[in-house]
Amino acid sequence: MEVLFCTSEAFPLVKTGGLGDVCGSLPRALHELGNDVRLILPAYPEVMERAGKLTAVTSLTLTGASEPVEILLGQLPGSEVGLYLVNSPEHFRRPGNPYLQKDGSDWPDNAERFALFARAIVALALGQADTGWKPELVHCNDWQTGLVPALLSEHEARPATLFSIHNLSYQGLFPAATFTALELPDTLWSIDGLEFNNMLCFLKGGIANADWVTTVSPSYAEEICTSEFGYGLEGLLQYRSANLTGILNGMDKQTWNPGSDPHIERGYDVHSLQHKVVNKFALQREQGLPVGSQPLLLGHIGRLVEQKGVDLILDSLDALFQHPIQMVILGSGDHELEQRLMDAADRYPEQLAVHIGYDEQLAHRIEAGADCLLIPSRYEPCGLNQMYSMAYGTIPIAHRTGGLADSIVDLDKQSERDYTATGFIFDEDSPQAILKTCLRALTHFQTRRIDWWKLVITGMKKDFSWSKSAAQYLELYQRVCNNTQTQASIAADSEHKTMPSQAVSV
Ligand code: ADP
Repeated sequence: MEVLFCTSEAFPLVKTGGLGDVCGSLPRALHELGNDVRLILPAYPEVMERAGKLTAVTSLTLTGASEPVEILLGQLPGSEVGLYLVNSPEHFRRPGNPYLQKDGSDWPDNAERFALFARAIVALALGQADTGWKPELVHCNDWQTGLVPALLSEHEARPATLFSIHNLSYQGLFPAATFTALELPDTLWSIDGLEFNNMLCFLKGGIANADWVTTVSPSYAEEICTSEFGYGLEGLLQYRSANLTGILNGMDKQTWNPGSDPHIERGYDVHSLQHKVVNKFALQREQGLPVGSQPLLLGHIGRLVEQKGVDLILDSLDALFQHPIQMVILGSGDHELEQRLMDAADRYPEQLAVHIGYDEQLAHRIEAGADCLLIPSRYEPCGLNQMYSMAYGTIPIAHRTGGLADSIVDLDKQSERDYTATGFIFDEDSPQAILKTCLRALTHFQTRRIDWWKLVITGMKKDFSWSKSAAQYLELYQRVCNNTQTQASIAADSEHKTMPSQAVSV
């Protein structure tokens, strides 16, 4: 199949979180299954630096750009996946985070930037940008590409569209006046289109208009249809539920492999687990914590936002640190949370190390060095850290929600007996639940070392490879393309009946 895969980030070119990981590895896995999948990304400076050889395909005159927009073609580094870049310096040539300014606030022209991106994608999808290539299906990801299915729905001869929700709480909401300023077609301003509580909602454009909607785990697909997790879009999602599928993300086993990871102190696998502790000692040493195998070393990696439950960790620390527990936290985000974490690290220098910032290498060193990874997310569409941690023999301690619930098996009598347990799960998102579950893990760690290693090995042997999930996407792509063709030919037939002289191309 020919698939245009549209995203605002993809590892190793640009990544702020799980979206980047997924969009860097799913296209590769689809390519390995024999498909011509091409990524399209904005040409941010770091992407231009890392992309390697690029050739100009065309130059487009697009609404919202004062200069012609160049479309470049290259390859996703380390793969044969095609890569289109949308080069509009006035929109994308700026340093740092793709969505945020240095002070953490959104770029004020994000609506203009991602509307322009969507218009370039539409041109490519309709075969107007690269005369040598036209996709059968356009796969869009998150709000930054939400306008694409909406704009394509205005065209009869269009490819099929699929929209993936990686996190429903990021909706791309802008004032109603932005709709007019962006010169979007009037037909799209309706309750079935882009209007949401009298705001312009990019995400809704994808959910309402795509031929199919997916999200990144089966549990999250159910959760977002409820008022608790639906952020006001639950009605629309229930309406679309016949065309809504949850597919659990996979993980990139090349990048996240303790046997060949260049970032960690000492490589290991299930047969050389004695080397894992070398990584623990290295992590303790470099983070300024007392070195030793006795304390249970917890890691936490992630964006410091309410979703991830970092405030719950903070509220559990006084009680947790009454016990032989150490913690290393890596993250950046909310400035108040950053400050609270640094204050806590000052109070507990022997037990808590906090690293504020984005550090890919340290993320790998924590995955390898920690005994457990603490993931108390209030909600988690899929979550990748728990998969990485299991691959590294680091036991996840997590809240039972979304993809965490779908990928971790809680240790209980049954799962212990049949060797399926891979972690410790708690049901309530509270500091008390975190404390109780960490102590459950600590007791297991201190008193049942052989059983601990069983947990470690079961997790390391789990198959979270992309090939399984990619095959599910492919099946869905084929189904969506067949449906879209059938619908289009029904529409064409009825038009022939009413307007026999007008040719309709599909
Ligand atoms: P989300 O997409 O909500 O941020 P995921 O668990 O799906 O959460 O993916 C997070 C990804 O981003 C993981 O690869 C994680 O290691 C990485 N990550 C998050 N914060 C940081 C950070 N401060 N430094 C390095 N990597 C980070």
